[in-house]
Amino acid sequence: MKILLGAHVSISGGLKNACAHAKNTGSNAVQIFTKNQLQWSAGELDSNEISSFKKCVISQNLTVAAHLSYLVNPGSTDEVIKEKSISGIINEIKRCGLLGIKYLVFHPGSNKYLAEEETIKQIALNLSGIIQQTAEFKDVILVLETTAGQGNQIGYRLEHIARVIELAGNSERLGVCIDTCHIFAAGYDIRTLPEYNKFMKDFENIIGFDKLKVMHLNDSLRPLGSKVDRHAPIGKGYIGLDAFRFIVNDKRLKVVPLIVETPGSDGEHKIDLDILKNMVKK
Ligand SMILES: [Zn+2]
Ligand SMILES: [Zn+2]
Repeated sequence: MKILLGAHVSISGGLKNACAHAKNTGSNAVQIFTKNQLQWSAGELDSNEISSFKKCVISQNLTVAAHLSYLVNPGSTDEVIKEKSISGIINEIKRCGLLGIKYLVFHPGSNKYLAEEETIKQIALNLSGIIQQTAEFKDVILVLETTAGQGNQIGYRLEHIARVIELAGNSERLGVCIDTCHIFAAGYDIRTLPEYNKFMKDFENIIGFDKLKVMHLNDSLRPLGSKVDRHAPIGKGYIGLDAFRFIVNDKRLKVVPLIVETPGSDGEHKIDLDILKNMVKK
């Protein structure tokens, strides 16, 4: 079975370097930060940078996802953070639109002053505003990532994500990213086939596979239900290899880019990706 598989790669030195990293790691799908993820703002993309990026993506037939900066928090009610988050997301949607990137992955958000249901409403409200304000970039899908539930994060239950999507008007521009490390830390066990099948069935019932746009394949340094987000190389954490074997052979996932966000750079990523490729049944 042919699958879409690759790594989160660096863009240091220019966006088109993502393509070189894709080659080094043997990726046909990659995830990038389109700018420094530790900064709120980014300079304008120049047309040369856009065209050289698009050219190499097409020539290597890459599926590309972008990940939003960790600074943004669409759950915030702090006026300053909220405004910065909304404009940060809008800006990133534009960058993705210009670069031809279809998927923009982000963590749903948190709010230590609100009950979960209120935070969920706040996130949905902000997202629906953002979607309205970026109608000209309607090809860019906002992909809500499942979280480990650290701090006051929303997204450690599938129901949270389903509720955000519902309250934001079931927009076709909202999708979901399952991160294996995060769901495991959140308490969803996928280490045996019956448990994996149960999780996937829950996903289908609560959210639906049509919403699944990206998957992050990370092993977990912390045990089941720890609520701590620490990625481990594939097969080197508490999840172990079996769960990843189920995933790379799951026919429902063959159109979904599977991205490793494991520690290290190209060399380590290639090791993780080779392990995954070798588990795909011919
Ligand atoms: Zn992730
Ligand atoms: Zn993580």
